[in-house]
Amino acid sequence: MAYDFLVVGAGFAGAVCAERLARAGKKVLVIDKRPHIGGNAFDCRDEHGVLIHPYGPHIFHTNSKRIFEYLSQFTHWRFYEHRVRAIVEGEAYPIPINRTTINRLYGLDLSEGEVEAFLEKAREPRDPVRTSEDVVLNSVGRDLCDKFFRGYTRKQWGLDLSELSAGVAARIPTRTNDDDRYFGDSFQFMPAEGYTAMFEKMLSSPLIEVRLGVDLDTVKETERWDHMIYTGPIDAFFDYRFGKLPYRSLRFEHSHLPTCDQFQETGTINYPNDHAYTRITEFKHLTGQVHPGTSLVKEYPQAEGDPYYPVPRPENEALFKRYEALAAACTDVTFVGRLAQYRYYNMDQVVGAALKTAENILARDTSAARV
Ligand code: FAD
Ligand code: UDP
Repeated sequence: MAYDFLVVGAGFAGAVCAERLARAGKKVLVIDKRPHIGGNAFDCRDEHGVLIHPYGPHIFHTNSKRIFEYLSQFTHWRFYEHRVRAIVEGEAYPIPINRTTINRLYGLDLSEGEVEAFLEKAREPRDPVRTSEDVVLNSVGRDLCDKFFRGYTRKQWGLDLSELSAGVAARIPTRTNDDDRYFGDSFQFMPAEGYTAMFEKMLSSPLIEVRLGVDLDTVKETERWDHMIYTGPIDAFFDYRFGKLPYRSLRFEHSHLPTCDQFQETGTINYPNDHAYTRITEFKHLTGQVHPGTSLVKEYPQAEGDPYYPVPRPENEALFKRYEALAAACTDVTFVGRLAQYRYYNMDQVVGAALKTAENILARDTSAARV
């Protein structure tokens, strides 16, 4: 059997490309070495019937109407704004840092304007802002940095804030008002029936064949295709020719409390300074599911294991560039996604990158057909 496209990976990057190409009449084989679709966004019911995210909490948020509308073809949505608290010296404070955080932490009653003045005094101006430490010190100063960011970052990445590029800590804003939402995006929703149900619809075209539990090396022997879309780790594709790109991994510890309706106040609680885990997420907040028990996940960062996070640092970016140059020379393979592009992408950014990739491929295809 010959396919127009082989898509390696059934996560957001692979599923969006496959859907777009099949929509244009192409025959697509999608493979994933895992036994399920959805990549890290996969969700399923645990043995107690609670909808969980086996690879950690996934909350959809975007400012792109186009991306939201694209995904809306495959799912209805449940409105959900994620809220997070950080435990500092035994007390729970809103994170991102906001007016409430500062007033409660320091026993103050500052107005918005006064919080601005407080932060102006507390901050340590940095110019240029290169590292994540620069970002945090520049916006909130040393005390808040040490209470909310330094310990969490050390645990999550095994590195100091000063060893990570600015973009990591820049994901977390600082607010002077009482807005305690984790994300500020204009679209914040969860897929009403879950992510896996949405992926099933994306991959439902008769022109798409999905094979699970199958590695790229296996199909190389047995199948033929014209063009490959690869969404796995880019260094693995090239047999680590220039050495391994660091990816940070996690161990997920799932648990279920059969008689507890609600375990914690918000969807996620962060533990910047205590415990070996970074955060606890309680899934029912995210999904709105009604169930007499509740299911939780603790995230334990680790160096070894499945690749979950590219590690944004200048030397890693330089190593990635060498792999990217090899990738650019492979005219019959396109690399897209968080692992293949070595970018700390959120789901919506992966969808955006995959839509662009499919558009480019189809445009090339049309112009080749014209010649
Ligand atoms: P993946 O989902 O990793 O999919 C790649 C797939 O390729 C995998 O299923 C893998 O098995 C397969 N594969 C790799 N190599 C091969 C091979 N050789 N042969 C066959 N198959 C292969 N984003 C948000 O927007 N909001 C969140 O709240 C959020 N929370 C997150 C929490 C955690 C703990 C993590 C790790 C990520 C989170 N993300 C979140 C990011 C989100 O998971 C990613 O942006 C997105 O899922 C990446 O999609 P992808 O298709 O690029 O990669
Ligand atoms: N961070 C922190 N303290 C927090 C939350 C985040 O220090 O309470 C830092 C940390 O370095 C983390 C980064 O900000 O890795 C990005 O946080 P985010 O919640 O976006 O991480 P993700 O959900 O992608 O794991």
